[in-house]
This record gives sequence, structure tokens and C-alpha cells, in this order.
Amino acid sequence: MKFRLLLALLVLPLGAQTTPFGTKVSDPASAPATAAAPVAAPAAGGVSDEFVDNSVQVSPFRPTLLPEAKSTRTFQLSKLNRLGSTESTKELQRLYSAFATQSIVDGSPAGSSKAVGHLTSVTYSILQDLGDNRYLAKAAWPASGPNEALAAGVDTMALLLLEKPAKAGDTGKITGMHVGTVAVLFTPDFAPLKGRRLTLRREAFLECATLEDSPAGLQRFVEAITAGAELSATTNETIPCKKCGGLGFTREAQKGQLLDKRVPCADCASTGKLIISVETKFVP
Ligand SMILES: [Zn+2]
Repeated sequence: MKFRLLLALLVLPLGAQTTPFGTKVSDPASAPATAAAPVAAPAAGGVSDEFVDNSVQVSPFRPTLLPEAKSTRTFQLSKLNRLGSTESTKELQRLYSAFATQSIVDGSPAGSSKAVGHLTSVTYSILQDLGDNRYLAKAAWPASGPNEALAAGVDTMALLLLEKPAKAGDTGKITGMHVGTVAVLFTPDFAPLKGRRLTLRREAFLECATLEDSPAGLQRFVEAITAGAELSATTNETIPCKKCGGLGFTREAQKGQLLDKRVPCADCASTGKLIISVETKFVP
């Protein structure tokens, strides 16, 4: 549940004053906190210019955008493999595979919840510990999401929220959920930026666990639906074009001619088919 709360805090667009990545700078109430950041009292003998402001501020900058499903449909488990129904074992397996890549494991009754960002595998090397399990890292990840909505990262700085403590120099690989771009105000302690107070805008990832795409995982998924969990998966599906009825063209009557003129269908580029994003909701 803790993880769900963290997520909720991070994705709340309004009202939330803090996120797992820090305090919103836009919130006036929190702004003075920065200004009032530790000013070292001059020590006896008075060397105050050695003071380095090591406070860290992370604020949401650009949220992650998930594609919205254009259409919805229902998959009814009780109709599975019934004559004349579209609910087949093969279709259930295909949809479960999609569900597994779009969900993260958490403490909810269903055992998982919908990922609020694209999931990708992130390879990293920690540059600096920013506190609260937040790290600035050199990272790389492959593109993910439909139409590569999240572009690949190659040897780039990113912000990571890791499950376990780490230290500068540690390397590893996690499944990361992209939570958008954040602005981080900090003082680097690594060359060549060492000691310069600056703000970086970088992609941020939360470490998470994905569901197991296995027969046992599918079994738990079916049991959760039977027990009343509201689960859905989003997939790209090919459907017949509505405008031309799947023909790829429409007809236009020609004055004084026996045959209609065939007008190529612009909606489907004359293919007769459309690819749309469909959310399938599972019911017992
Ligand atoms: Zn068409």
C-alpha cells in the first residue's frame, strides 16, 4: 500500500505539495523553505565561505502521457471457449500478456495495479545520492510504449527512485516506470560540475516489479477477476473501417452513368482497416 500511496502522491496534478521526488517549487508555501536553507553560522574564527548548500529540490516538470483507449469492450470469463463467443483461451493469454506489461505489483487486493507510466528496463550507474532513495544516475533505456511514446535514453542523466539504498558508483538494472520529467535543484558532488548549484530537467523513473507473464500469473489474474477485481488491458486492434464498411472506398453516383464512381477512403487510406487502441475490461 505504501507504494500505491507514493504513486498517488506523484501523479496528483493539483493539491499535492510533495512527491516522492520532492517538494513542488511552484507551491508558494514551500518556497521560503529553500531561501531559508541552512546558512551556516560563521564558526569562531569566521570561515563561512566554505559553506556548500547541499539541499535538494525535485519538482514535477512534465508529466508522463499515456495514450487513451479509443474504444472499450468486455471480456467475459464465463463465456470462455463457448461456441460462438469471441472469448477464447488464446485470446485470454494474449490479453493477459498485455496486462502483465502494463501493470505493477503492489499490495492491493488484486495484487497489482495499472502502471501510470510506460515501463522500461533502465540500466544505471549512480552519480549522486540525493536522499530519500532518490538518485541522480547515468542511465540508458530502450524506447517503450505504443509508437515509442517514451523515447530511448542513451548514456543520459536521469532521476531514479530505487527500492533499496545505493551509493555513488553502484551500477544495476531495474524495471522502471516512467513518471515524467522533473526539475532537480541540487549541488553536484561529481566532476566536472562539482560544487556548482544548478537545476537539471531529467526523465524520472520509479523502480517497480511487473507481473509474471506465466500460467501461474494468468491463474492468479483469473482468480482476482472472479473475486471481483476490476482489471483491464489496453491493446492495439485492427477493426474494419466504419466509413467505407471495410471496402477501402466509398461510392459516389455519377450523373448519367450506370456505374458509381469509387472514391478512395481517406479514413483508412484505402486499406479497409483501422488500427485503434482498445481497452478490454475483464468480468467474471
Ligand atoms: Zn475506410
